Amino acid sequence: MISVFGSANMDLVAYTPVVPKRGETVTGRAFAAVPGGKGANQAVAAARAGADVAFMGAVGDDAFGPVVRETLGSAGVDVSRLRVVPGSSGVAHIVVDDDGGNSIIVVPGANGAVTAPSAEDLAVIARSDALLLQLELPMEAVVSAARQARVPVVLTPAPARELPRELLDAVDLIVPNEHEAEALTGLADPREALEALLELVPEAVITLGAEGALYGSRAGGRLRVPAVPVRAVDTTAAGDTFVGALAVARAEGRPQEEALRFAAAAAALSVQREGASTSMPGRAEIDAALR
Ligand code: ATP
Repeated sequence: MISVFGSANMDLVAYTPVVPKRGETVTGRAFAAVPGGKGANQAVAAARAGADVAFMGAVGDDAFGPVVRETLGSAGVDVSRLRVVPGSSGVAHIVVDDDGGNSIIVVPGANGAVTAPSAEDLAVIARSDALLLQLELPMEAVVSAARQARVPVVLTPAPARELPRELLDAVDLIVPNEHEAEALTGLADPREALEALLELVPEAVITLGAEGALYGSRAGGRLRVPAVPVRAVDTTAAGDTFVGALAVARAEGRPQEEALRFAAAAAALSVQREGASTSMPGRAEIDAALR
């Protein structure tokens, strides 16, 4: 089983020819409301990839909370530990213009009310093969969960920010993309950044978009995993799909390289379809792609 302690948002996406200036109103072309948030996305990715998944986090007591719960639940994620707190759910207000550029306002809402895992959350985490964490909850909550987990901790350090020592000490595997890896280490060359990350945590994967991923462990292994060549139409949540699938393959005890190929196959399937959680492949599809 995989536990995810993280953010759940409602992504409100407006498609418009031009982004309005201050004081201006423009008529948009289309609108979509889709559950998102890195925590929820990783939970859906892991569930689709074939694991039992428990999601721990919070939504508000607004109209979005039940939608987020329903979406996670219908993907097979256990949402019995998803709390409801007074106020608004986390919302990502996204404006996409005709050039594909976007501007985003993220309002943490209920995610900001999560300060630590409860005793019940910790009991679920203790029964898991891994705990997946990201940085869209308050840092104190992330640190608290990492330090109290008695299982391997996988951290996606996004959105990039400085990581306290007490968090790094509790992380087993860190999975930044190349920008986050550079922000963490100050090194633009991913191979150098990988070595610097291994001074901080025992294992690291740096994802490189269409260039694939680099893996390293303090025990000595280094691997370069190519991306599967595909025509990408929307790379939103490629990283979350990769992490969710990687956690599943590792929980199944697969050898490192095989686990990374499984994750790359899942992510390559997701970039060929629009959307975040809606684009994540199921287990049969990932297995078929690998054959
Ligand atoms: P996002 O922020 O969009 O979720 P990310 O920046 O965290 O993504 P990336 O490094 O862009 O993560 O991608 C993660 C993984 O997804 C890559 O390691 C690769 O395996 C796969 N991937 C991403 N883009 C492509 C692509 N164009 N073609 C094939 N695979 C891709």
